[in-house]
Amino acid sequence: MTGALRVNGERLWDSIMAMAQIGPGQHGGSSRLALTDADREGRDLFVAWCREIGCSIRIDDMGNIFARREGRDPARAPVAAGSHLDTQPHGGRFDGIYGVLAALEVLRTLYDHQFQTEPPLEAVVWTNEEGSRFAPAMIASGVYAGLFDKEYAWARTDSDGKTLGEELRRIGYLGDVPCGEHPLGALIEAHIEQGPILEAEQNQIGVVIGGQGQRWYDVVLCGQDSHAGSTPMIGRRDALVAAADLIGRVQALAHDLAPHAVSTVGEMSVLPNSRNTIPGEVRFSVDLRNPDAGVLADMDARFRADTRTVAEHHGVEWQIDEIWDKPPVQFDSACIAAVESAASMLGYRHQQIVSGAGHDACQVCEVVPTSMIFVPCAGGLSHNEAESAEPADLEAGGNVLLQSMLALAK
Ligand SMILES: [Zn+2]
Repeated sequence: MTGALRVNGERLWDSIMAMAQIGPGQHGGSSRLALTDADREGRDLFVAWCREIGCSIRIDDMGNIFARREGRDPARAPVAAGSHLDTQPHGGRFDGIYGVLAALEVLRTLYDHQFQTEPPLEAVVWTNEEGSRFAPAMIASGVYAGLFDKEYAWARTDSDGKTLGEELRRIGYLGDVPCGEHPLGALIEAHIEQGPILEAEQNQIGVVIGGQGQRWYDVVLCGQDSHAGSTPMIGRRDALVAAADLIGRVQALAHDLAPHAVSTVGEMSVLPNSRNTIPGEVRFSVDLRNPDAGVLADMDARFRADTRTVAEHHGVEWQIDEIWDKPPVQFDSACIAAVESAASMLGYRHQQIVSGAGHDACQVCEVVPTSMIFVPCAGGLSHNEAESAEPADLEAGGNVLLQSMLALAK
């Protein structure tokens, strides 16, 4: 009986499309930033849908929502699934929303069949995953996991100086449950892949085994401002030429460790930024990522050695500030096995995969047995209004979610 249950793919698709109408973007996507009126409206719709099928709602003091479908044994910790409803300013219709509404679809399916589980099942919404309005990203799942202090999180401000705590209260989602105290027995997050691998391999399901580690740095190279016309080429201390050399090496170190290593310089400021002065100072960011902690440490060491070499060669001084070090995470083996067995049982083409992006699951896994399900998205494109996914793939991910939650609920 259990193995024969399937989600309603059409209802799942219709719910995703209905949610996308709230805070619509200008090019077919969504613009529903965390804790805005649109976010409140999206949350209200989710809560109303959950109440229609008899779920009770608990909200914690980071605004995380736990919609609970009671089981036979209310003493057991719930088997949960969920993601986020907030989007980027030019966000897509699926990033985060899919995981929340797939969890809802699982609860709706069980409701349709009057199927009772032993432990309760829950659909979860995590607050401010995107980090677009309030940095850092994944802050509420981070508080839940004990990685951030609540006071720190409440005090984060948007570009108008409004705090996350004030905005939570304003939209009516400052709950009374202390964040982190609502117990979860397991968490599965379904999500679009946001990368090209599943599509290229023609697989419908990614069994996510973990998330890669990341290290973020601010780099300063200091040379000397000098006249662009009267300073000979020999002896110049051009900080921008040194930066260009170093950026090439940062890119090369990831190429040498392909396909799992990635490196990015995404931000730069050049001083004095004048066309007829040799640049005396350059500041830029470096982002290194790898799923293996040892390899990531090697990337760190090579980046530092390259910086020294480049600085000596170009006669500049250098400084590196490491501003974030997030170790790789490994998901729970029983949760991974539940997802993998469900995909096999359902006959979907699947593969194991490591998440390139950060997700709420990568925070919550510190304190709750966790794994993720990826489904393909067109061209691997995400954080873009054109983000799109096939209804059949979303339905397949919903069925894998349903069956893996039922397996974990045994
Ligand atoms: Zn997301």
